[in-house]
Amino acid sequence: MNTYSFMSEELARLEAKGNLRVLPQTVHEGRYITMDGRRMLNLSSNDYLGLAADIALRSEFLACITPETFLPSASSSRLLTGNFPVFEQLEQELARLYGTEAALTFGSGYHANSGILPAVADSHTLILADKLVHASLIDGIRLSGADCIRFKHNDMNQLERLLQQRSTTYRRTLIVTESLFSMDGDEAPLQELVELKHRYPGILLYVDEAHAFGVRGKQGLGCAEEAGCLPDIDFLVGTFGKAAASAGAFVVCNHTVRNYLVNRMRPFIFTTALPPVVAAWTLFVLCRLPDMTLRRNHLAALFATLRQALADMRQSCPSTSHIIPIIEGDSRDATRRARLLQRQGFYVLPVRPPTVPEGTSRIRISLTADMTMEEMAQLLDALSTPA
Ligand SMILES: *Cc1c(COP(=O)(O)O)cnc(C)c1O
Repeated sequence: MNTYSFMSEELARLEAKGNLRVLPQTVHEGRYITMDGRRMLNLSSNDYLGLAADIALRSEFLACITPETFLPSASSSRLLTGNFPVFEQLEQELARLYGTEAALTFGSGYHANSGILPAVADSHTLILADKLVHASLIDGIRLSGADCIRFKHNDMNQLERLLQQRSTTYRRTLIVTESLFSMDGDEAPLQELVELKHRYPGILLYVDEAHAFGVRGKQGLGCAEEAGCLPDIDFLVGTFGKAAASAGAFVVCNHTVRNYLVNRMRPFIFTTALPPVVAAWTLFVLCRLPDMTLRRNHLAALFATLRQALADMRQSCPSTSHIIPIIEGDSRDATRRARLLQRQGFYVLPVRPPTVPEGTSRIRISLTADMTMEEMAQLLDALSTPA
């Protein structure tokens, strides 16, 4: 027995179940990824619009950067000396696009979710959260100390019962969900959530649009834009690390919420602001996002093709988006299927517990707008090969 044996024992248990994770050694070349000498089309990134792999876009950005304007570090928290003008510009542009009074940006989506919830919820708050919300939301809920009930995924009847039976004894109730779920690629019924919110008093609606920002809606603002319910969401969170090909996150809100978070949100206060050059790149991308309709339409066409093919193969698919799980069940089967597709030139990964529930291990395909229809046809060939 040594001091670390509890760790090695746990690692051995994970390995025995096929759930041991290791960091992949990968080399990136635009849309491709090379691993163990094999070059594969990357179908596992969150670069949904293909912007991270777009050299022309980067060149255009770099052309407006000089050694004087390239600011690699904020060297401080926003509240001390780190509040560079570019952060305020970025927030003003977000507020303008979303038609809100204000916006606030953060170091990451993880910071946003694990920080906003503890700032706005306490032991007098009830949080009703979808069963499948992201780990960063779960951590935020835990840190808040609020009472929390997880409702069955997208089950509006159960949510309404909870609102009727439980929410009256609390000062306020927060409904927490994602708009587009990362593991099944399905969507929350935003309009129904908004109706529920308006039917009961004292309800706040928190929606994480991490996977929909940039991709959905006429201007790429997300599912709430598409559903026409932007003004009904109290906390709309988006991230820049996915379709926007940058890093960081934001909430769009009113002045009161912004001022409150600046005073009360620990992962906003006690952290160095993002490098200003990152915020400048985010702003550069954000300004172009509304005009990226062609990319969004192509991504939708890729999804429609894949979904139809899966239906033809009688493969059930919960997804209504560019994130497509193919559920295998057992972790080892998912791993085997992923390896097979990798050998055929497609970099897909198995998703296993604890990321997804036991017995629902899967491979997960993330489509990106820079995939061609020819590549889609090759992928369909590879998928129809029995594992
Ligand atoms: C990726 C993701 C996050 C975390 O965002 P980061 O900027 O990567 O920290 C939060 N919520 C959801 C739903 C996500 O998918």
